[in-house]
Amino acid sequence: MITLPKGTKDVLPENSYKWQFVEKTARETAKVFNAKEIRTPVFEHTEVFARGVGETTDIVNKEMYTFSDKGGRSVTLKPEGTAGVVRAFVENGLYAGALPLKTYYITPCFRYERPQAGRLREFHQFGVEFFGATDAGIDAEVILLAKTFLDKLGVKNITLYINSIGCKECRKEYHDALKNYLKANYDKLCDLCKDRYEKNPMRILDCKNEDCKAITENAPSILDYLCEDCKAHFEKVQSLLKAAGVEFKINPKIVRGLDYYTKTVFEFVSENIGAQGTVLGGGRYDGLVEQFGGGKIAGIGFAAGIERLLLLLESAGAIPADDALTLYVAPMGDDARDKAFQIVAEMRDKGISAETDYMGRGIKAQFKYADKLKAKFVGIVGSDELSRGVIKIKNMQSGEEVYAPIDKIAEFLR
Ligand code: ATP
Ligand code: MG
Repeated sequence: MITLPKGTKDVLPENSYKWQFVEKTARETAKVFNAKEIRTPVFEHTEVFARGVGETTDIVNKEMYTFSDKGGRSVTLKPEGTAGVVRAFVENGLYAGALPLKTYYITPCFRYERPQAGRLREFHQFGVEFFGATDAGIDAEVILLAKTFLDKLGVKNITLYINSIGCKECRKEYHDALKNYLKANYDKLCDLCKDRYEKNPMRILDCKNEDCKAITENAPSILDYLCEDCKAHFEKVQSLLKAAGVEFKINPKIVRGLDYYTKTVFEFVSENIGAQGTVLGGGRYDGLVEQFGGGKIAGIGFAAGIERLLLLLESAGAIPADDALTLYVAPMGDDARDKAFQIVAEMRDKGISAETDYMGRGIKAQFKYADKLKAKFVGIVGSDELSRGVIKIKNMQSGEEVYAPIDKIAEFLR
């Protein structure tokens, strides 16, 4: 038997409604915030991610699916959504249109990680990227969009952590302070963090290695180093969130430590799904568009992991049941089969979900099958009904039975 690759999953027909529930909720939320969908390729030139995600991140260091295509070009399967969207924003000159431009996406992502609960090699994200506004209001709006999405899904017991990682100016001083603090324990840092120490020390705060975590336990806080502008911006974000009734905690350990990431960063974390508790993370990246050659244009966004959301929703039993089949038509005899075929076709024309038998089942087996399909109504057509031009409709919940004229069936399905 050929099996699927490690770290990937099939979404089977019996479960796809769960995905559709999350995706529909994502689209509806994006819509009320006036965000439009953007779709970018599943693979890009490797440089897009090397540049857009950053060389000191886990993603670029060890997680990318990179390969040479037959033309010898290095391409990479998208490990996240932002870089491709920024590339498209710049390449298509979208900065010349009305700003802010609000975009969203639902996309598969690929990372070569050790598979475990909530950590896959192919996973899916719902994300948004808003371009062109430096105003703290847009930070609050992006966070509010995330919160609205989680609320609409029915996610409970989730904590919003926010932080500011400042700008190029204030971070310089912080990096010095952090390096000074880490110096004594430099030898105990993991290899990746040793590299980060020079290139981007703030990323060390994000390391999952236990030794590194212990070392950074009492590290200086970026919040003590913010410049006036960044401080005012962070305070404004907080006051807007408070005004919108969004609860949050400040956590100076949350970093998105690239040079072109700035100011606000945030995460929604759940205690209910084990170690992989971060379901949604985001932040401001005012230098990223410029990095792609698109001028000084601000950006901010987030991405939510759909698999982790589903784990959360399933454990809470928060996913609404799949839409039931409205009408199952059970024919008795060959003439009735033709009629049943015709009836289901007419129902479907009216937008009513309908099903009939193609397996030659007897009437008892058909009722069993209709139960399995969770049909709300079962219509029975036998020779008697055929001659009278009616169908016997049974309400499967109440057990009530009525005869409906063949041309008025829809009216009886309530
Ligand atoms: P983690 O710290 O768990 O590795 P991350 O910081 O790498 O997460 P982001 O790059 O911020 O994650 O991606 C945003 C969201 O995508 C995460 O919060 C998570 O819900 C989801 N996600 C990230 N990596 C995976 C994965 N390998 N499998 C499933 N979901 C993932
Ligand atoms: Mg990761």
